[in-house]
Amino acid sequence: MATIANNLQLVRSRINAACSRLGRSTDSIRLLAVSKTFPAEAVREAFDAGQRCFGENYVQEAIDKIQVLDTLRGEIEWHLIGPLQSNKTRVVAEHFDWVQTVDRLKIAQRLSEQRPDHLPPLQVLVQVNTSGEDTKSGVDPTEALTLAQQVAALPRLTLRGVMALPAPTPDPQAQAAALAQVRVVFDQLKAAGLPIDTLSMGMSGDLEAAVEQGSTMVRVGTAIFGHR
Ligand SMILES: *Cc1c(COP(=O)(O)O)cnc(C)c1O
Repeated sequence: MATIANNLQLVRSRINAACSRLGRSTDSIRLLAVSKTFPAEAVREAFDAGQRCFGENYVQEAIDKIQVLDTLRGEIEWHLIGPLQSNKTRVVAEHFDWVQTVDRLKIAQRLSEQRPDHLPPLQVLVQVNTSGEDTKSGVDPTEALTLAQQVAALPRLTLRGVMALPAPTPDPQAQAAALAQVRVVFDQLKAAGLPIDTLSMGMSGDLEAAVEQGSTMVRVGTAIFGHR
């Protein structure tokens, strides 16, 4: 029973349906499979079904999986999407391809200093805290441009855009408003001349709404791997 492969197909068809309603190209959305709490075998199953980008929340759990799946290292793109403390930046700089949760200059500076020379620059997103978010992670929208400009100037990082995790709400209008607020920040950064291309928002429950608001990367866990 290839459940993960079936689920991936369902998620891809949800993305495709949303894109065709909006007249967007399906290539304009990347799917990040969020494998937190699931074992390396689940990642491999998704890999075998064609998935290449994976998101993890917890640093040590992720490193363990990255090491188990070492033979796939050149083909998988690993994204950190959970909070990052400064005592973990070195191991993250050494093992991940992307960090989506940069919300302080100090973390960005450490990642840049600690990124090994033999690896390409670490791809990063600035995490924006939209109102109502239940964690304290993320920079205030009014401070996002300043942080983004500072991050973009660091030598071993490549700023790719913005990430957000709006609080889940059953009200579709409130959901759309929160996602639209993130889009505004993304557009501001672009208008300021930053060469960014990634707006990471949308999860299992709101990926269609996020695509509607301009997301270019949806982060999907439950709809691919099941309930945690
Ligand atoms: C867990 C998580 C996801 C995936 O959420 P699902 O609702 O399981 O799709 C996406 N983004 C972040 C930051 C997460 O922590």
